[in-house]
Amino acid sequence: MLLDPYKRKINYLRISVTDRCNLRCRYCMPEEGIPLIPHERILSYEELLRIIRVFAKEGISKVRLTGGEPLIRRGIVDFITSLSLIEEIKDLSLTTNGILLKELASDLKRAGLKRVNISLDSLRRDRFCQITRKDEYESVWEGIIESLKVGLSPIKINMVAIQGVNDDEIESFARLTLHLPLTVRYIEYMPSGNGEAWKESELLTIPQIKDRLERMGKLIPIPSDRWDGPAMRFHFEGATGEIGLIGAVSSHFCEECNRLRLTPDGRIRTCLFSDEEIDVRELLRKGGSDHDLKERLLVALQAKPERHYINTHQFKKCQRNMSAIGG
Ligand code: SAM
Repeated sequence: MLLDPYKRKINYLRISVTDRCNLRCRYCMPEEGIPLIPHERILSYEELLRIIRVFAKEGISKVRLTGGEPLIRRGIVDFITSLSLIEEIKDLSLTTNGILLKELASDLKRAGLKRVNISLDSLRRDRFCQITRKDEYESVWEGIIESLKVGLSPIKINMVAIQGVNDDEIESFARLTLHLPLTVRYIEYMPSGNGEAWKESELLTIPQIKDRLERMGKLIPIPSDRWDGPAMRFHFEGATGEIGLIGAVSSHFCEECNRLRLTPDGRIRTCLFSDEEIDVRELLRKGGSDHDLKERLLVALQAKPERHYINTHQFKKCQRNMSAIGG
């Protein structure tokens, strides 16, 4: 079992398989994109599998693939097939913008993926285009429908709520859960990503969102299960789907944090908001053994901070863009 210095059990690795993305969400990236990590510095699938196999032996049992946009990396389906064969990995998931799901959902399901998180910040095509700078609203919906059809479950729709941008859509997103087997999760806008874009005035907090939802009807709490992570779960009376609330800014849940992150260029990050990084790529490429890899994992574990300091005077924005860390 992996325990950090604060006695937290670490069993979750979030892997950014690429820093490339096919959207340019305003809060995440500038229009021209970000300087990309050169291909030769990106971990190959073989390198990733080796790292994951070693980490899984030590206690990592939950893996999420993210990016950038993970589905634009060539060979991702075969990679998922290999991952799903690692016995110690009990929960394998993917975060995607959904654009390529229409094409890939059934292959992903066959590869062993059970569930998927799809990011969608607006239910209005014009606004989707404004936020993402791409006209892909229909493709995302086709992807959601295909995922439902092939039986990926649960399908979670992640909506980053931003005051003055999409705050008027809180209720429309919630209404999706009434008749569709979707989990709509509201996520607080965090100070990371695109340069100086984040403003506290744009933060719509989870208590504010919950208040709005409660005006629509009674929110019935759902007990968390062990793979739930930090989301508070609810449903409306008689609804087919669920609501999830995730407030990383207004109420940090660091005492329950169970995760480490791996960047596309092979650095373990101990917290989304810390620039502490522990290299594994160079170690691997210089012939490091599995034992050396395990030692690096233990170094990362020891370096995990007790908490983040968003909303306090000690907070420093992290240097890497979200797409190069893995949101
Ligand atoms: N391309 C994939 C996707 O769209 O889900 C995975 C990468 S994306 C960086 C992962 C998630 O991070 C998305 O849901 C995105 O909305 C979220 N994200 C990016 N910047 C954020 C911020 N400043 N605050 C909150 N969420 C953010």
